Amino acid sequence: MLAAIAALPASLGAQNINLGDALGRWGYGDDSVKADNLARWDMKGFSVRAEKNRAFVELGGVKVYLGAAVVESNGRMFVAKRDFDKTIAPVLAPQAVSVPHIRTIVLDPGHGGKDPGNLNKRMGLTEKTLALDVTKRLKAILEAKGYRVLITRTRDTYVELEDRTAYANRAKADLFLSIHFNGAESTSAAGLETYCLTPAGQYSTNDARRSAGNTGAEAGNAHDRWNILLGYYVQKTLVDKLEGEDRGVRRARFKVLCDLACPGVLVECGYLNNPAEAANIASPVYREKIAQSLADSVAIFHARVYKLARKTSTPPPQAKPKETAPSAPARPRSPLSPSESSVTRR
Ligand SMILES: [Zn+2]
Repeated sequence: MLAAIAALPASLGAQNINLGDALGRWGYGDDSVKADNLARWDMKGFSVRAEKNRAFVELGGVKVYLGAAVVESNGRMFVAKRDFDKTIAPVLAPQAVSVPHIRTIVLDPGHGGKDPGNLNKRMGLTEKTLALDVTKRLKAILEAKGYRVLITRTRDTYVELEDRTAYANRAKADLFLSIHFNGAESTSAAGLETYCLTPAGQYSTNDARRSAGNTGAEAGNAHDRWNILLGYYVQKTLVDKLEGEDRGVRRARFKVLCDLACPGVLVECGYLNNPAEAANIASPVYREKIAQSLADSVAIFHARVYKLARKTSTPPPQAKPKETAPSAPARPRSPLSPSESSVTRR
């Protein structure tokens, strides 16, 4: 235990949670399926996997990034308390506290106008155009389900990042999805990523330099618990339906997410410079599939929050879709996290 504490970054004031004990209280089976560096727990066919020294866990087969690496001590796996409270618990055992209503959805096609985003010149693909195409498809599907759907740009125009957020806040959006396509130096990079606002006190996933001052709080952190649950369902649904590589639910302080007054995520729907993925993305049929997957993830998220608080939540406009994760029983009050019941407000 002492060794485990020492291995976590002291600068972040991290504190440890014994993951096996915590999951056991929610009914997950003993971590009997266990290799040297890997532990796994199961409940109703849903598995949690943690690997020593890796800064992610796998929840139901989806990679979800943590702020600090998993630490092994005497055959037990430990995670930082912040990671447990801000990432693992809100996905496995979301609480019926301040459950969001979901009626108005703001969609944000990335880039536009003078900012083309990522390009594949050989195939004539431009991120701003593809993001707008997927957004319009998604808008039609969500409207057919009965949602009120607004988009931050309807044409090829440049919109400042702050204005996208401000638009969503003015529209009193209940949910925000920013839609992008990825790019990389290497043509071998492929797959899907979903970004949620980084919790206060934590470094972002891609912040390799870990420079000081990168761990501050943002207004959007008021929705941490729903951001990660939404991000989880978006990532899981995309990976399942598109059969793409799971690059994980990641954390970033993207400007469009920082000041949001509602739950929101940014999704990267594939790499434009990966030849195989770009060929898919160039097809309207595939883009319709992306839009359908995103719509499904909204429906799954909505069904889950509705189930949490039937009396205070808005029902989903359609028949509820199948659950993709078993609901853990209500969290025990102690000793896990007495602070979890209060929402941080700014
Ligand atoms: Zn982009």
